[in-house]
Amino acid sequence: MKAAWRVWMIAALAAGSVASLTAQQPAAPASRQWAIELHGGAGVIERSKMTPEKEAAYRASLAQALDAGAKVLDQGGSSLDAIETVIRILEDDPLFNAGRGAVFSAEGKNELDAAIMDGANLKAGAVAGVTRTRHPISLARAVMDKSPHVMLIGPGADLFASQNGLEMVDPAFFFTENRWQSLVAQLQKEGRPIPPRPAGVPEPPPSVTPPAQPVPTRGPVDESPSAHIHGTVGVVALDRQGNIAAGTSTGGLQAKMPGRVGDSPIIGAGTYASNASCAVSATGSGEYFIRLGVAREVCNLVAFKGLPLQEAADQVIHKELESLRGDGGVIAISPDGQLAWSFNTPGMFRARIRQGGKPVIAIYNDEP
Ligand code: ASP
Repeated sequence: MKAAWRVWMIAALAAGSVASLTAQQPAAPASRQWAIELHGGAGVIERSKMTPEKEAAYRASLAQALDAGAKVLDQGGSSLDAIETVIRILEDDPLFNAGRGAVFSAEGKNELDAAIMDGANLKAGAVAGVTRTRHPISLARAVMDKSPHVMLIGPGADLFASQNGLEMVDPAFFFTENRWQSLVAQLQKEGRPIPPRPAGVPEPPPSVTPPAQPVPTRGPVDESPSAHIHGTVGVVALDRQGNIAAGTSTGGLQAKMPGRVGDSPIIGAGTYASNASCAVSATGSGEYFIRLGVAREVCNLVAFKGLPLQEAADQVIHKELESLRGDGGVIAISPDGQLAWSFNTPGMFRARIRQGGKPVIAIYNDEP
């Protein structure tokens, strides 16, 4: 009896010390200097395939979103507020695979996923398969702040959004011609059926020829690492109070099965934040990121192996992810002000700025 009690006590003490390690106990002294970093997706993004106009448009969007987040932090706003502000802008930007401009499922629907996490207290909110909420990141925040749960999916998540006064839209709001044509091209190439054009969207422009009968050329799903369409968005930030946070929003993978959920809204896979280690947002072929628990893995290497943030991110992306032949990247921040990004694709849309510093905007893997 006594022995059992002792075992229980040791277990309780150990649990307590783990809890204190992971919440409200910064591993390194928190920096009072704010910093913010964002990504707009990783993938086969090559100079040769980018027009100067398109590249300029991406750089301008990244710079504008970064600036909005920097302003929030500079005025003393929280890392959570900065993240929500930036992601709302990117969700409205049709260049990115989140909100308006999201990719389509094989059934021709936009099913949106998002998550946000507060490193100060390990609170988190996530949504998956949302179809009517204009800003999934704000819905994830509402789940965190106003519900007893961490994750809501599908119609229940949209209902919670409308009950909490978030802006609701017709699913056609998320439609863009570019993404639709990209879906049609992929399904045709793979010999899969092409769904009807969604209701309520504009007529196709006259230059677009109606989809031909699909001709099978390969298996039912293209699993090659380059198959995924980039454009997921994510932000990590450190505020003047020394708190870090992370958020991610996405339409997922193009031509995904209806109901498929990727890593972005899975806490520990595509999104994670703890003041005890780091905050991470990921982008890439989500199935690999879920299997590896990528975001938490980066933070564990910081917390338990004492690795510098960049080394931890590189180890997970260039060793662990690559050993599974997964593709993608992460952005990461720590409470002591370290910033890191790491990706194994030709490009990742990304940007960062520190208090008093100059913005860095980059796309290709040969940029610093
Ligand atoms: N990670 C996202 C997903 O698998 C997609 C992406 O980042 O491009 O849903």
